[in-house]
Amino acid sequence: MSKLIVGNLKTYMDRNDVITYLKETSDLNGSIIICPTNIYIPYFLKHKYMVGLQDVSSEEGGNHTGDILARQAVSMGIKFSIIGHSERRNIETTEDINKKIIATNKYGITPILCVGEEKQSRKTKKFIQRYLSECLKNTLVNKVIIAYEPMWAIGTDVIPSNKEIEDIVIFIKDFIKREYDCDIRVLYGGSVTKENVGSLKLIDVIDGILVGNSSASIYEFKEIISKYLN
Ligand code: PGA
Repeated sequence: MSKLIVGNLKTYMDRNDVITYLKETSDLNGSIIICPTNIYIPYFLKHKYMVGLQDVSSEEGGNHTGDILARQAVSMGIKFSIIGHSERRNIETTEDINKKIIATNKYGITPILCVGEEKQSRKTKKFIQRYLSECLKNTLVNKVIIAYEPMWAIGTDVIPSNKEIEDIVIFIKDFIKREYDCDIRVLYGGSVTKENVGSLKLIDVIDGILVGNSSASIYEFKEIISKYLN
Protein backbone atom coordinates (compact mmCIF):
# COMPACT_ATOMS: atom_id res chain seq x y z
CA MET A 1 0.00 0.00 0.00
CA SER A 2 1.43 3.39 -0.90
CA LYS A 3 1.92 5.90 1.90
CA LEU A 4 -0.59 8.74 2.18
CA ILE A 5 -0.01 12.35 3.11
CA VAL A 6 -2.93 14.45 4.29
CA GLY A 7 -2.67 18.23 4.63
CA ASN A 8 -5.22 19.77 6.97
CA LEU A 9 -5.29 23.47 6.10
CA LYS A 10 -7.77 24.19 8.93
CA THR A 11 -8.60 27.93 8.84
CA TYR A 12 -5.10 29.21 8.20
CA MET A 13 -5.66 30.97 4.89
CA ASP A 14 -7.63 33.79 3.36
CA ARG A 15 -8.31 34.01 -0.37
CA ASN A 16 -4.99 35.69 -1.22
CA ASP A 17 -3.04 33.03 0.66
CA VAL A 18 -4.98 30.35 -1.20
CA ILE A 19 -4.19 31.87 -4.61
CA THR A 20 -0.47 31.93 -3.80
CA TYR A 21 -0.59 28.41 -2.35
CA LEU A 22 -2.36 26.99 -5.40
CA LYS A 23 0.24 28.33 -7.82
CA GLU A 24 2.80 26.14 -6.11
CA THR A 25 0.73 22.97 -5.93
CA SER A 26 0.27 22.26 -9.64
CA ASP A 27 3.08 19.68 -9.59
CA LEU A 28 1.59 17.72 -6.65
CA ASN A 29 -0.33 14.53 -7.40
CA GLY A 30 -0.67 10.93 -6.33
CA SER A 31 -1.11 10.06 -2.73
CA ILE A 32 -1.59 13.59 -1.40
CA ILE A 33 -4.95 14.65 0.05
CA ILE A 34 -5.41 18.35 0.78
CA CYS A 35 -8.28 19.40 3.05
CA PRO A 36 -8.92 23.13 2.55
CA THR A 37 -11.43 25.35 4.30
CA ASN A 38 -14.76 24.55 2.59
CA ILE A 39 -15.26 27.83 0.73
CA TYR A 40 -11.97 27.36 -1.19
CA ILE A 41 -12.54 23.74 -2.23
CA PRO A 42 -13.55 24.44 -5.85
CA TYR A 43 -10.15 26.07 -6.49
CA PHE A 44 -8.34 23.00 -5.18
CA LEU A 45 -10.45 20.57 -7.19
CA LYS A 46 -8.79 21.74 -10.39
CA HIS A 47 -5.54 20.05 -9.39
CA LYS A 48 -4.24 16.49 -9.66
CA TYR A 49 -3.95 15.66 -5.98
CA MET A 50 -6.99 14.55 -3.99
CA VAL A 51 -9.19 16.87 -1.98
CA GLY A 52 -10.94 16.13 1.30
CA LEU A 53 -13.32 17.86 3.70
CA GLN A 54 -12.19 18.78 7.21
CA ASP A 55 -15.57 17.61 8.52
CA VAL A 56 -18.87 16.42 7.09
CA SER A 57 -22.49 16.50 8.21
CA SER A 58 -24.15 13.41 9.59
CA GLU A 59 -27.42 14.64 8.16
CA GLU A 60 -29.26 13.99 4.92
CA GLY A 61 -31.88 15.98 3.09
CA GLY A 62 -32.20 19.63 2.33
CA ASN A 63 -32.79 21.52 5.54
CA HIS A 64 -29.48 21.72 7.41
CA THR A 65 -28.27 25.29 7.15
CA GLY A 66 -24.49 25.61 7.18
CA ASP A 67 -23.80 21.90 6.76
CA ILE A 68 -22.05 20.05 3.94
CA LEU A 69 -23.59 16.67 3.23
CA ALA A 70 -21.70 13.60 2.06
CA ARG A 71 -23.98 13.48 -0.97
CA GLN A 72 -23.06 17.06 -1.90
CA ALA A 73 -19.34 16.41 -1.41
CA VAL A 74 -19.42 13.35 -3.61
CA SER A 75 -21.22 15.30 -6.33
CA MET A 76 -18.18 17.63 -6.39
CA GLY A 77 -15.73 14.75 -6.75
CA ILE A 78 -14.58 14.80 -3.12
CA LYS A 79 -13.65 11.34 -1.92
CA PHE A 80 -12.33 11.92 1.63
CA SER A 81 -13.35 13.62 4.84
CA ILE A 82 -11.55 14.08 8.11
CA ILE A 83 -13.97 13.13 10.90
CA GLY A 84 -13.68 13.59 14.65
CA HIS A 85 -10.76 16.01 14.59
CA SER A 86 -9.71 16.88 18.12
CA GLU A 87 -10.33 20.58 17.52
CA ARG A 88 -14.02 19.64 17.23
CA ARG A 89 -14.09 17.23 20.14
CA ASN A 90 -15.76 19.67 22.52
CA ILE A 91 -18.64 20.12 20.09
CA GLU A 92 -19.25 16.54 19.00
CA THR A 93 -19.72 13.20 20.70
CA THR A 94 -18.69 9.74 19.55
CA GLU A 95 -22.33 9.22 18.64
CA ASP A 96 -22.16 12.23 16.27
CA ILE A 97 -18.90 10.93 14.82
CA ASN A 98 -20.45 7.50 14.31
CA LYS A 99 -23.35 9.05 12.37
CA LYS A 100 -20.91 10.99 10.20
CA ILE A 101 -19.00 7.82 9.33
CA ILE A 102 -22.26 6.08 8.43
CA ALA A 103 -23.16 9.04 6.16
CA THR A 104 -19.78 8.86 4.36
CA ASN A 105 -20.08 5.09 3.97
CA LYS A 106 -23.41 5.55 2.27
CA TYR A 107 -21.97 7.84 -0.42
CA GLY A 108 -18.56 6.24 -0.87
CA ILE A 109 -16.49 8.92 0.85
CA THR A 110 -13.50 7.59 2.76
CA PRO A 111 -13.56 8.86 6.35
CA ILE A 112 -10.25 9.76 7.96
CA LEU A 113 -11.18 9.17 11.57
CA CYS A 114 -9.00 10.97 14.12
CA VAL A 115 -8.35 9.34 17.46
CA GLY A 116 -6.00 10.38 20.21
CA GLU A 117 -5.75 10.70 23.95
CA GLU A 118 -5.89 14.04 25.73
CA LYS A 119 -2.87 13.32 27.92
CA GLN A 120 -0.41 10.45 27.91
CA SER A 121 -1.35 7.93 30.58
CA ARG A 122 -1.64 4.26 31.32
CA LYS A 123 -5.28 4.51 30.22
CA THR A 124 -4.47 5.59 26.65
CA LYS A 125 -5.15 2.21 25.03
CA LYS A 126 -8.39 1.75 26.96
CA PHE A 127 -9.53 5.19 25.84
CA ILE A 128 -8.65 4.51 22.21
CA GLN A 129 -10.40 1.15 22.22
CA ARG A 130 -13.59 2.58 23.67
CA TYR A 131 -13.55 5.59 21.35
CA LEU A 132 -13.05 3.40 18.27
CA SER A 133 -15.77 0.93 19.28
CA GLU A 134 -18.26 3.79 19.71
CA CYS A 135 -17.29 5.61 16.52
CA LEU A 136 -17.18 2.48 14.34
CA LYS A 137 -20.44 0.88 15.45
CA ASN A 138 -22.39 -0.41 12.40
CA THR A 139 -19.98 1.21 9.92
CA LEU A 140 -18.02 -0.24 7.01
CA VAL A 141 -14.79 -0.42 8.96
CA ASN A 142 -12.73 -1.65 6.01
CA LYS A 143 -13.45 1.70 4.28
CA VAL A 144 -12.07 3.78 7.16
CA ILE A 145 -8.62 5.34 7.48
CA ILE A 146 -7.60 6.09 11.05
CA ALA A 147 -5.32 8.97 12.01
CA TYR A 148 -3.65 8.50 15.36
CA GLU A 149 -3.35 12.06 16.63
CA PRO A 150 -2.53 12.42 20.33
CA MET A 151 -4.27 15.64 21.36
CA TRP A 152 -1.26 16.78 23.35
CA ALA A 153 0.85 16.64 20.18
CA ILE A 154 -1.44 18.78 18.02
CA GLY A 155 -0.06 22.25 17.40
CA THR A 156 2.42 21.91 20.25
CA ASP A 157 5.70 20.92 18.58
CA VAL A 158 5.89 17.98 20.96
CA ILE A 159 5.56 14.52 19.47
CA PRO A 160 5.66 11.01 20.93
CA SER A 161 8.77 8.91 20.42
CA ASN A 162 8.82 6.56 17.43
CA LYS A 163 8.44 3.68 19.83
CA GLU A 164 5.33 5.18 21.41
CA ILE A 165 3.74 5.85 18.02
CA GLU A 166 4.55 2.35 16.83
CA ASP A 167 3.11 0.83 19.98
CA ILE A 168 -0.25 2.63 19.64
CA VAL A 169 -0.52 2.11 15.89
CA ILE A 170 0.08 -1.63 16.26
CA PHE A 171 -2.48 -1.65 19.06
CA ILE A 172 -5.05 0.05 16.79
CA LYS A 173 -4.37 -2.30 13.88
CA ASP A 174 -4.60 -5.38 16.10
CA PHE A 175 -7.82 -4.15 17.64
CA ILE A 176 -9.39 -3.55 14.21
CA LYS A 177 -8.26 -6.94 12.97
CA ARG A 178 -9.61 -8.73 16.03
CA GLU A 179 -12.94 -6.89 16.24
CA TYR A 180 -13.76 -6.30 12.57
CA ASP A 181 -11.55 -8.76 10.75
CA CYS A 182 -9.98 -6.25 8.40
CA ASP A 183 -6.73 -4.43 7.78
CA ILE A 184 -6.92 -0.68 7.58
CA ARG A 185 -4.51 2.19 7.12
CA VAL A 186 -3.38 4.10 10.18
CA LEU A 187 -1.71 7.50 9.80
CA TYR A 188 0.17 9.54 12.38
CA GLY A 189 -0.67 13.22 12.97
CA GLY A 190 0.37 15.89 15.45
CA SER A 191 3.23 18.42 15.05
CA VAL A 192 4.69 16.80 11.93
CA THR A 193 7.38 19.14 10.58
CA LYS A 194 10.16 19.10 8.00
CA GLU A 195 12.53 18.50 10.90
CA ASN A 196 10.88 15.38 12.35
CA VAL A 197 9.45 13.79 9.20
CA GLY A 198 12.71 11.93 8.46
CA SER A 199 12.41 10.17 11.78
CA LEU A 200 8.68 9.43 11.30
CA LYS A 201 9.51 7.84 7.98
CA LEU A 202 11.38 5.15 9.87
CA ILE A 203 8.16 3.90 11.45
CA ASP A 204 7.18 1.20 8.98
CA VAL A 205 3.88 0.40 10.61
CA ILE A 206 2.33 3.82 9.89
CA ASP A 207 0.71 4.19 6.48
CA GLY A 208 1.18 7.93 6.19
CA ILE A 209 1.03 11.25 7.98
CA LEU A 210 -1.54 13.95 8.66
CA VAL A 211 0.04 17.39 8.64
CA GLY A 212 -1.67 20.48 10.06
CA ASN A 213 0.25 23.69 10.55
CA SER A 214 3.22 22.67 8.42
CA SER A 215 0.98 21.97 5.44
CA ALA A 216 -0.13 25.61 5.32
CA SER A 217 3.31 26.67 4.12
CA ILE A 218 3.56 25.11 0.68
CA TYR A 219 7.36 25.12 0.80
CA GLU A 220 7.47 23.31 4.10
CA PHE A 221 4.72 20.92 2.98
CA LYS A 222 6.60 20.07 -0.20
CA GLU A 223 9.76 19.40 1.76
CA ILE A 224 7.78 17.09 4.05
CA ILE A 225 6.27 15.28 1.06
CA SER A 226 9.59 14.81 -0.63
CA LYS A 227 11.32 13.60 2.55
CA TYR A 228 8.49 11.23 3.42
CA LEU A 229 7.78 9.72 0.02
CA ASN A 230 11.31 9.47 -1.40
P1 PGA B 1 -0.52 20.03 13.60
O1 PGA B 1 -2.01 19.56 13.41
O2 PGA B 1 0.29 19.33 12.53
O3 PGA B 1 -0.56 21.50 13.42
O4 PGA B 1 -0.11 19.60 14.98
C1 PGA B 1 -2.36 18.26 13.07
C2 PGA B 1 -3.83 18.18 12.98
O5 PGA B 1 -4.50 19.08 13.47
O6 PGA B 1 -4.39 17.25 12.42
